Amino acid sequence: MRNVLAMALVVSAMTQGFSQQDDPKATEVWEPEPKVVTPGNNGAPPSDAIVLFDGKDLSKWSDKKGNPSKWTVADGALTVAKGTGDIKSKQEFGDIQLHIEWRTPAKVEGDGQGRGNSGIFFQERYELQVLDSYKNRTYSNGQAGSIYKQTPPLVNPTKGPGEWQVYDVVYIAPRFNSDGTLKTPGRITAFLNGVLVQNNTEIQGTTEYIGKPKVVAHEKGSLVLQDHGNPTSFRNIWVREL
Ligand code: MG
Repeated sequence: MRNVLAMALVVSAMTQGFSQQDDPKATEVWEPEPKVVTPGNNGAPPSDAIVLFDGKDLSKWSDKKGNPSKWTVADGALTVAKGTGDIKSKQEFGDIQLHIEWRTPAKVEGDGQGRGNSGIFFQERYELQVLDSYKNRTYSNGQAGSIYKQTPPLVNPTKGPGEWQVYDVVYIAPRFNSDGTLKTPGRITAFLNGVLVQNNTEIQGTTEYIGKPKVVAHEKGSLVLQDHGNPTSFRNIWVREL
């Protein structure tokens, strides 16, 4: 009887030991269950995306003053109308995942910063450069895939003029303290044509053509597309709020 009791204690100890240290269930997380999102094919928006341009109209956009944009819509694409100014999304965003496709003109005109220049401004302030950077040398932190005048792309995976190119971006907005000072900087991870060009890059501040970036507190902001005087086109623009 004493032996049986001893054996039971040993088995009990072994079982407890297993449950506390070696049970694979101990590290399983079941709640919350991630919601189901139906992915799109070939860059098409997933089921929970906010579609900002589906090839048909500019209803989700305005000019910088809030008036209807004069950019042209044809053949499923949106094209800069030179001199009409930047356009901005009517909806304002914080952290987002962005998908946007762009094409610089097939007819090559100009060079350096004057060839197919446009840009995507997150929260109206931080530019991810759009440029024809195919055999078109300019300053590295001004070519396609750069955070303009801040961080060059890791590599140059651009396609030639007239070809559609794809950005997939994770944008994390900067956070500010109540006194307006920076709490945590914004960050950008960007893939250009499926190739990583910005790897969780810290945003230094506002995009400035001349001088250093500035840190100025702000709330949510629009996505802005730049009129730099070149007829660059966009299509299939969607975001997911993070
Ligand atoms: Mg630009």
